Amino acid sequence: MPGDFHVHTQYCQHGADDKMEAYVLQAIEKGLTHLSFTEHAPLPENFTDPAPKRDSTMDRDKVETYLSEGKALQKQYKEDLQINIGFEVDYIKGFERETQTFLDTYGPEMDDGILSVHMLQAPDKTFFCIDYSEEEFGRAAAAFGGLEPLYTAYYDSLQASVAAELGRFKPKRIGHITLIQKFQLAYPQPVDFSKEQTKLLELIKKQGYGLDINTAGLFKPLCKETYPPVKLIDYAKQLGIPLVPGSDSHTATGIGKGFDELSAYPSQLPQPLNI
Ligand SMILES: [Zn+2]
Ligand SMILES: [Zn+2]
Repeated sequence: MPGDFHVHTQYCQHGADDKMEAYVLQAIEKGLTHLSFTEHAPLPENFTDPAPKRDSTMDRDKVETYLSEGKALQKQYKEDLQINIGFEVDYIKGFERETQTFLDTYGPEMDDGILSVHMLQAPDKTFFCIDYSEEEFGRAAAAFGGLEPLYTAYYDSLQASVAAELGRFKPKRIGHITLIQKFQLAYPQPVDFSKEQTKLLELIKKQGYGLDINTAGLFKPLCKETYPPVKLIDYAKQLGIPLVPGSDSHTATGIGKGFDELSAYPSQLPQPLNI
């Protein structure tokens, strides 16, 4: 594996306090040649974080510090590691304009980016952060009227994220496309969503985007598989979608975790952000 392209930092409110430099040193120690910092971009200003601790992303007033700390490390370690600085940007249906404003502002400073769905709006208009906890997931399922409408809303939102107009700095890689299965051992997939998943991959291919091959799910006690699972990685590979590995690490020691499981796949570097 050449690198880890989905990594968080001390700026994330729900992660560890490990400094960005600790992640860099871990990456070098593990023999990686590339590292993408993809901190959670701040949520749109007029959107209230639905997570019970309101800790889903980084603080808006830390963005400049995050970027400058990243750029300094980029220079300092340029002989040892290619460091990309970017964001994991939330796609929230109905907040496209605000999301584009963020990307238009910070896009010129980003080397890499991931577009992810974590937030879904229930029919009663309440938003839920679907990967927050098993309990929150249960509350979301109740608000949606069951697991099937919740899963359906997730795949609808993912498809909308691929098609969304978010300007010239829209991230070109779609994050953990089966995150809805994070608690699957407690809340099993109610029906087969292969059709939606296949369609999603075909849309990703059509747009020329890449796929976040995310190992974090392997270590979640109620998931125990990669996002997406092997069968879908195989289909993405068959379609020729760039497969870009990421640990989604929120601690320095998590860099490259689970990458052994991906050794059968050709891993690719992220596409340039601005294409
Ligand atoms: Zn996170
Ligand atoms: Zn994510």
